[in-house]
Amino acid sequence: MQHFPIFMALAGRRVVVSGGGDAALAKLRLLLKTEAHLTVFAEEFAPEIASWATEGKLRLVPRAMAPGDALCAVLFYGANEDDAEDARTAALARADGAIVNIVDNLIDSQFITPAIVDRDPVTVAIGTEGAAPVLARAIKRDLEERLPATLGTLARIGKLFRSAADALPMGRKRRDFWSEFYFKTGPQAIEEKGIKSVRPALEALLDQHLNAGEKEGHVDLVGAGPGDPDLLTLKARKALDEADVVIYDRLVSAEILELARREATMIDVGKEGFGRSVSQNEINDLLVQHAQNGAHVVRLKSGDPTVFGRLDEEIDACRAAGVSWRIVPGITAASAAVASIGQSLTKRDRNASVRFLTGHDMKGFAEHDWRALARTGEVAAIYMGKKSSRFIQGRLLMHGADPATPVTVIENASRPEQRIVTAQLSDFADAITRADMKGPALVFYGLAPRTAQSVAATIQPQEVAL
Ligand code: SAH
Repeated sequence: MQHFPIFMALAGRRVVVSGGGDAALAKLRLLLKTEAHLTVFAEEFAPEIASWATEGKLRLVPRAMAPGDALCAVLFYGANEDDAEDARTAALARADGAIVNIVDNLIDSQFITPAIVDRDPVTVAIGTEGAAPVLARAIKRDLEERLPATLGTLARIGKLFRSAADALPMGRKRRDFWSEFYFKTGPQAIEEKGIKSVRPALEALLDQHLNAGEKEGHVDLVGAGPGDPDLLTLKARKALDEADVVIYDRLVSAEILELARREATMIDVGKEGFGRSVSQNEINDLLVQHAQNGAHVVRLKSGDPTVFGRLDEEIDACRAAGVSWRIVPGITAASAAVASIGQSLTKRDRNASVRFLTGHDMKGFAEHDWRALARTGEVAAIYMGKKSSRFIQGRLLMHGADPATPVTVIENASRPEQRIVTAQLSDFADAITRADMKGPALVFYGLAPRTAQSVAATIQPQEVAL
């Protein structure tokens, strides 16, 4: 992030604009929404600017800017539509201590103005650091449609009611109250009986919340999917939106953690290699303790929590403590990986079943029904199969599997760093070593990418073809 978004208090503060044409007009329209003292310097100016000056909305100085003109100003906009004049006036403003923006000149600007969705006092600012103004406009349009026009009204009424709502204890209880107001009671009151009914509705809602009993905690065991945030389920997103505490594993991607409610307590219980930095018992205790304190806990696991996720230990702990829980499924690594090679997990006349195997278990490398797997046409998705690749290779060959059976290794499935390594049973362990994989990898036994051409879009350029 090269630009840090903040909201600046402008009421009663000085803002200077140099320029009187279209660029200045566009900035002034925005600035007039604020309570700043605006001064415009321009030798020529659009009629709107003159009439704003007549109405007392801004001060118009009909000459070019001179040294000292921006003294005490917090912000300066160079909107002269002339590079030399922008550079000259910006230098003057900087010397006077103002922070400078030059319209359409990212490099020489100290700050940039975001695209804005205005539901005063609720303001959404969208920035792309100048990279994609088109994208910013599209997001703005989308939000304009989605955020009801009454949002600002509700926020204003809510603000006046804040001290009354402080009667509720801070944290979850107060949050629940406001959330019910903004998303249910408030809009309903406006729609059914108009703005005047909002305040009484708020009072009734507060009474109801003040008299409600203690809220019970809860644990959601949530699948975070393979890494791409777009592969999260809507239910998982909702749970993250509501979580008080998020307890997450190492493989959960940073982009997904970003989606958690900003106030949520984030607890990393990441696994490192074969061991855990936090023991399973400690994780169980964390889940139960936070839920018993009334928190909505999201236990976030990569992929699907029911696949090699140590889920049952955690469910048992919740049950033993009488804590309510539910499972929110996710897309497992095998589903994302098979999609990336353009194949199906099962296929008529090839394999009527598919196995999900783990390369190792609590005791070390995991044993499986190797003889059954060695038969032609079998398909297995092998999780945690990097370290155990030589063991698996040896076992399958020993049980008569064809050395030419295709084996595909997909590292970081669904993530930008995704890599696909194609090999055969006879050489896939070497291929894994050579590829020096640092990320999570899924090994498909019995599957090759469909054809280079048809999956070209999903195989990344870093592909290692062996
Ligand atoms: N519950 C998870 C699996 C946890 S076990 C799921 O359903 O996907 C961890 C193993 O999952 C890793 O060792 C790796 O084999 C696999 N894995 C997880 N995310 C992956 C990804 N993005 N790409 C490839 N393999 C992944």
